[in-house]
Amino acid sequence: MGKIAVYPGSFDPITYGHIDIIERGLEIFDGVIVAIADNAQKKNLFTIDERVEMAKIALREMPDVVVENFSSLLVDYVEKTNAGVILRGLRATSDFEYEFHMAHMNKTLNKRLDTLFMMTGRDYFFISSRTIKEVASLGGDVNGLVPEIVVEHLRKKFKIRRSK
Ligand code: ADP
Repeated sequence: MGKIAVYPGSFDPITYGHIDIIERGLEIFDGVIVAIADNAQKKNLFTIDERVEMAKIALREMPDVVVENFSSLLVDYVEKTNAGVILRGLRATSDFEYEFHMAHMNKTLNKRLDTLFMMTGRDYFFISSRTIKEVASLGGDVNGLVPEIVVEHLRKKFKIRRSK
């Protein structure tokens, strides 16, 4: 069995920033499980089914990637897969404090698991699901920042201008 990493997140929606981390993760791991959190406490724009569907379509040409949803404690979910590593992306300083706390919390909850951080690609450091939603909600064009299937879903929610 090869080395597997779990890449957890909200993916509300998946962006090219996430996909860059997945592609680079596959250079290190034999497989990546994209684990989409079904967290009722978080106010997401897309339902869990929509987030999973968009990710599955966006990643369908990557045979070593599977997309799943989870609603339990992350360390319990990871324990049930055969992964030993949690993969996370890190953008400048904005992500650091939260990620630092979560990594230590997860390590405290399960000593066998470690978190591996990959620095965001320089073409993607400004992309977040939150800014994508903000821009799209105001009609801005997010083509080239998110996969086509995500543009289509955003277009159903908001009136987005066509690219110039
Ligand atoms: P969460 O709600 O858990 O933060 P996200 O879907 O927003 O979930 O992000 C999942 C992971 O991907 C996080 O580690 C986040 O820092 C990382 N990430 C998000 N956008 C980017 C990006 N543009 N470049 C690199 N990593 C990113």
